[in-house]
Amino acid sequence: MEGKPIRGSAKVIDTHCHLESEEFQADLPGVIERATSSGVWMITSGISPSGWPECLRIVSSYPSVYAAVGLEPDRYTDLELALAWIHKNSSAIVAVGETGLDHYLVREHEQRLEQEAAFRALTQLAIELRLPVQVHSRSAGRRALEVLAGTDAGKVHMHAFDGKASLARDASRNLGYYFSVPTSVVRSPQKRKLVKAVEYERLLLETDSPVLGADSRTRNEPANVWIALREVASILGRDIEEVRLAILENTRRLYPLVGSKE
Ligand SMILES: [Zn+2]
Repeated sequence: MEGKPIRGSAKVIDTHCHLESEEFQADLPGVIERATSSGVWMITSGISPSGWPECLRIVSSYPSVYAAVGLEPDRYTDLELALAWIHKNSSAIVAVGETGLDHYLVREHEQRLEQEAAFRALTQLAIELRLPVQVHSRSAGRRALEVLAGTDAGKVHMHAFDGKASLARDASRNLGYYFSVPTSVVRSPQKRKLVKAVEYERLLLETDSPVLGADSRTRNEPANVWIALREVASILGRDIEEVRLAILENTRRLYPLVGSKE
């Protein structure tokens, strides 16, 4: 059945989801149990001051969940707070993020410049902490890659990249940036192109739960990362188990701590 594991002990990593979001409040233990029992390790990204402590509460309660902490790119008014909070809690997280640029929500030139400054500051903190940075880039793929290329960031994770496939190909090949393919790959021609363009050694998987599901009207959840894996294997015309192992290796190269609590 779609979404089910290939083998009982086989692991797959959902590198980007939002377990602290409101949509999961009513049944979070069940959501995590469905993922964990199907072999999924998760990186949940806390993107607001109220979400950060919840994020850490979740990772301390569930050995299969790891934390990234950052800010949504339209919430950079809380930047100073975020920088201080991440510094203080850096030993409990595996990445800084998400951060990045959102040119869909932010249209004014001045505001876009402010966004870039905050994005740079959070990226700089990730570099300082030797952690990967998880990058959101809505309608701003090219610019986000340009900003990153102007920093020393080596551990870069572009999530749900919506820019041109050729940009992703070049960034994965020349800069070693990683790109995670979301569940919505089953319905997105742009994401299918992305799968083919990104260097195989730089491919990751994500759900971005509760959004970016296979069906846009239904709440997404981390157990569905298997759907993304199956689709990626089918697009590449490769054996699913081979792709699972390759992507698992890619993910643990970038996130060596994921899996260490079990
Ligand atoms: Zn997200």
